[in-house]
Amino acid sequence: LLAKLSNVNDLDTLKKSLREIEQRLEKGEGNIREGVEGCIGNTPLIKIKSLSEATGCEILAKAEFLNGAGNSPKDRVALSIIEMAEEKGLLVPHSGDTIYEGTVGSTGISLAAICRARGYKAHICMPNDMAIEKSDLLLKLGAEVERVRPAPIVDQNQFVNLARTRAKEHTEDPEKSGRGLFADQFETEANWRAHFTGTGPEIYEQTGGQLDAFISGAGTGGTISGVALSLKSRLPELKVVLADPQGSGLFNKVKYGVMFDTKEREGTRRRHQVDTIVEGIGINRVTHNFEVGRELIDDAIRVTDEQAISMARWLVENDGIFVGSSSAVNCVAATKLAKQLGPGHRIVTLLCDSGARHLSKFWANTEPIGGTEKDVSLDNILEP
Ligand code: PMP
Repeated sequence: LLAKLSNVNDLDTLKKSLREIEQRLEKGEGNIREGVEGCIGNTPLIKIKSLSEATGCEILAKAEFLNGAGNSPKDRVALSIIEMAEEKGLLVPHSGDTIYEGTVGSTGISLAAICRARGYKAHICMPNDMAIEKSDLLLKLGAEVERVRPAPIVDQNQFVNLARTRAKEHTEDPEKSGRGLFADQFETEANWRAHFTGTGPEIYEQTGGQLDAFISGAGTGGTISGVALSLKSRLPELKVVLADPQGSGLFNKVKYGVMFDTKEREGTRRRHQVDTIVEGIGINRVTHNFEVGRELIDDAIRVTDEQAISMARWLVENDGIFVGSSSAVNCVAATKLAKQLGPGHRIVTLLCDSGARHLSKFWANTEPIGGTEKDVSLDNILEP
């Protein structure tokens, strides 16, 4: 058979690859991952070529949608929450324990997948205006789903409050087996710590510590706080920037130290619900996970829905990268930051989830992309 490889170069190349593999195997470095948990973390860092060429900066994005349980950075958080609870004896696999969580989707999907793998049940409370494919997916994963009317955090039926109540009801109900654990992604230490020990150090390794800025949106704040804390411990000069969708109060919190919007400080009155098509980032309260790293955030960049939609199209048209709304916001803000910093800088951001999870809402706002024609210009995306 090998004789068919008449080209000597082919044979040499094959031998060289196999020799390298054998050397790794001798060191015990096989490539088998332990279940879905083994497919979480160590995501690739991708150079976004079109944006890098257009700005003269290197714009790099961590492909978090390649996490292999729920396909978002929330896999790291869900695993961290579950492992921390198991260590404390608050969860015991296959004992009927149920995890309750309030989520706009991604954390619920990650929890539901890992719950299946570990023998827990998942009960997810989410606002009813999130893309329907997220709740469909949760049901397919066997989670119980409660979709509730969007409400302010002071309302007991707000999705996070409801999840907390449901966990308590479970624990107090003698008819129910096992315990109810409220995952509490907005307030738990397990959230930012997952990025502090995982996402941040991975970025450090993948860039060899050579980066000028990290930029990310915040929902719970776990990503930006955890990454900022780990990277700034080694790179004190690193610029950490918040990418914030329209209607979110975090922009003003970072820029002016206050949450509310006034007419002078661009925008409308503070509202409980962030008025944007973007899902997963943008919030009008300061959570523990945001507060932990807040002082390390140097600046904030605001992104409109229109800019995010145009960027999502740009990434498909130029790079073949199909992402969801929060990733698009991150990329608009990274490009604006590149323009501010000038050519020659290296900027790292995150691609959180796939566009497939946003077909019915975010992606429904755009015409089908035609053939090889390109109809999005970067100038339009960056227009204030
Ligand atoms: N992107 C998506 C799709 C999300 O669901 C979330 C979190 N809800 C984020 C980004 C934001 O991450 P964090 O909660 O760590 O701030």
